[in-house]
Amino acid sequence: MTQTRVKDVVIVGGGTAGWITASMLVKFLGPVINIHLIESEKIGRVGVGEATIPPILRLNRLFNINEDEMMSACGATVKLGIKFDNWGHKGESYLHGFGHNGVHLNNLQFHHYWLRAKELGIDADYWDFSPNWQASKAHKFAHNVRGKNGLSDLIYAYHFDALLFAGFLRKFAEKLGVKRTEGIVTNVNLNAEDGFIKSVSMESGEEIKGDLFVDCTGFRSLLLGEALGVPYVDWSKWLPCNRAVACGSSRVEPLPPYTRAAAHDAGWQWTIPLQHRNGEGHVYCSDFMEADEAEKILRDNVAGDFIGPANHIKFTTGHRKEFWHKNCVGIGLSSGFLEPLESTSIHLIQRFAGKLVDQFPAWPIQDGLRKEFNRQTLHEFGLIRDFLVLHYHRTDREDTEFWKYCKHMEIPETLSDKMELFQSSAKLRWDPEDVFADPSWAQVMIGQGMMPDQYQTRATAMNKTQLEQFFAQMRQMIESTLKDVPSHSDYINRYCQTDIS
Ligand SMILES: Cc1cc2nc3c(=O)[nH]c(=O)nc-3n(C[C@H](O)[C@H](O)[C@H](O)COP(=O)(O)OP(=O)(O)OC[C@H]3O[C@@H](n4cnc5c(N)ncnc54)[C@H](O)[C@@H]3O)c2cc1C
Repeated sequence: MTQTRVKDVVIVGGGTAGWITASMLVKFLGPVINIHLIESEKIGRVGVGEATIPPILRLNRLFNINEDEMMSACGATVKLGIKFDNWGHKGESYLHGFGHNGVHLNNLQFHHYWLRAKELGIDADYWDFSPNWQASKAHKFAHNVRGKNGLSDLIYAYHFDALLFAGFLRKFAEKLGVKRTEGIVTNVNLNAEDGFIKSVSMESGEEIKGDLFVDCTGFRSLLLGEALGVPYVDWSKWLPCNRAVACGSSRVEPLPPYTRAAAHDAGWQWTIPLQHRNGEGHVYCSDFMEADEAEKILRDNVAGDFIGPANHIKFTTGHRKEFWHKNCVGIGLSSGFLEPLESTSIHLIQRFAGKLVDQFPAWPIQDGLRKEFNRQTLHEFGLIRDFLVLHYHRTDREDTEFWKYCKHMEIPETLSDKMELFQSSAKLRWDPEDVFADPSWAQVMIGQGMMPDQYQTRATAMNKTQLEQFFAQMRQMIESTLKDVPSHSDYINRYCQTDIS
């Protein structure tokens, strides 16, 4: 049987989405397809998106990226988790650390033992048993710190300069044969008979044809949204923040190996430590706060000295009804946006680009593949949405109208079921497609103030003395493991110091 193949792929947009997609396609399909990326320096990139989650490390393996080189080129630092201040309760903090708190015993998650210990009157903070929190507090990081008896290595991701990271990937993709055209796309041309995209017209007058188009044009969604008219599904009733104001600030010492997410009156502020500056931004809801006030709060709370100008960004949390429509796949902001609370957008780009490789079509495009792509991507979007909504909804805060709204809003049933299950039994519902596994859900649920009514019966097999010994042993393991670990700054200076000033 002879098959016709999709041969010419045109990616419009060269932000993180465009260059990750180009790199992924060229890596796996380079010998058999032509990849052409169009971007406009005049339009530029969104310029935020500086915190990541651990699956980003897979890109290093896929693209043979030398971690130290990448970190140095992008002013990157290490991220062990996100420190949430004032979320569940004003004045309280917790870390959503990557990796586990404590260790499983008898195939039962640690939090069940911790709950039993609480009931027996043992005084122990859940985060005493988080290697990532203990390392974060001490501003430490190193690879291969694995201790004895099951303590894992520090699980980490990166903070990096988003503009530099896209540029870094560009070099990789171009080296493998991706063709790049600089310029502005002014028109998207559709076939009259089937409405598929035939070509894009450039400001220069050039016309670029393709079989498959990838829309990476950012919030504008020039192909999927504007040209093909795929509607946007608005999720703001669950995630009401719709504005951000971003700036830089001077680096502070000691260098934190975590992102800070501090809740404010109508949203929250990120602080992302890079080697050469901090990335800072205040995400808020315009129904509850004006832009001037949001900027003032940001300026008053930056970690170092304010570096302007402040960049005001509008967004709506949600997604295009279809991520793949006809012969156009949306990847990145063009396809949807989940606000940045858990740093998931770059991860979703990576996932979508991987799925496109996995379900790369022949010609004519198989509708089954397209539908399956849309099913999988929407499912992943929904899982992350629920995790984000949890942070806003499970709170004691009612001190402002915004927090009152979040506390009392209706939430997706998928989330209310998970919360009910945890509240009644400390059980977590695991979905293999959820990037946030049980340890993440347990940390955020407990961190936001949920205290389950029951724990699993298996935990009662440990009596008070046994639990005290178990806890003492774990504390000692973490302490002795981290004792010789260098500071985050020393680690960076030794292996991947940047020369960006
Ligand atoms: C406030 C905020 C904070 C965020 N924080 C994080 C975070 O911490 N972690 C995370 O993972 N993600 C974060 N994100 C998301 C992240 O920034 C994006 O997912 C990521 O940068 C990818 O953006 P993009 O490539 O889709 O769009 P962009 O960076 O906007 O790139 C769009 C590209 O399209 C090109 N383009 C547009 N129109 C045309 C045209 N007509 N002709 C030619 N070229 C065109 C532009 O030149 C550019 O190259 C954040 C987003 C926001 C809004």
